[in-house]
Amino acid sequence: MVSEAFPRTRSKANSATALPSCCQEDLRIAGWVKTTLIDYPGKIASTLFLEGCNFRCPYCHNPQLVSLPSTAVYLKTEEILGHFSTFSRLLEGVCLSGGEPLLQKGLLPFCRNLVKLGLKLKLDTNGSLPEHLELLLGQNLLDYAAVDVKGPPGKLGVITRSRLNEGELTRALESTVRLLKEYGVSFELRTTVVPGLLEPDDLHRLAEWMRGAPRLVLQQFRPGKTLDPVYQDVLPYPPQFLRELAATLTGFFGECTVRGLGDTLSPNPASELQPG
Ligand code: SF4
Repeated sequence: MVSEAFPRTRSKANSATALPSCCQEDLRIAGWVKTTLIDYPGKIASTLFLEGCNFRCPYCHNPQLVSLPSTAVYLKTEEILGHFSTFSRLLEGVCLSGGEPLLQKGLLPFCRNLVKLGLKLKLDTNGSLPEHLELLLGQNLLDYAAVDVKGPPGKLGVITRSRLNEGELTRALESTVRLLKEYGVSFELRTTVVPGLLEPDDLHRLAEWMRGAPRLVLQQFRPGKTLDPVYQDVLPYPPQFLRELAATLTGFFGECTVRGLGDTLSPNPASELQPG
């Protein structure tokens, strides 16, 4: 994987590529993994990390994307589109991650340009902005979505530390899932199982709430680099615990899997961005 997170100097756009600007001022791309085989299920993809988030999950492992300094330099959309144009035969898709990509005004025209290049799009979202999501769905721009469900109703506020209240968070997630079903877009739900924030009972309530979704992925919590320093030293649940938990939830979904167990003993690398 090639990570170009947080370049310190502005690089020149590929002058041989005459592609349109995508409202550069409205699209803050802070990191880029040019090639990944794991971020987009079944596809050779590239992952872009968009800056900014309306949540403040204490265990967030991309804290640098939640609030960047005002002096941050962002990647140029012309350069990214030029690269994708050159390598479109090798790349199958683009994963739009963050932060929360749906917060960015320039996302819609940027997605149009990506689709024009023949690329499939996967969106990683925290599920709080269904109106913004519908703008992309209405133009048939999305192929796949990964929706974070941070916890069951009643615990969303305390986990996300969002300005939205519990009812607003609950309704937004329900609308997000409903829209994906209505528009026929494949999706998965993802929950990071953090000790102290989520217990097995919480996961069962979450499963009852989201029953019938095609896939729930339980993600292993990774300490080391977290938004709230208190979580840097929290020990993850043992891998076997997560596997057994997933087995008890399988009946609620098309499938329930566990992700990230191979990294259980490794803290987050300090210099790399990680999709949701
Ligand atoms: S974990 Fe995701 S939703 Fe939560 S603060 Fe980080 S980027 Fe935002």
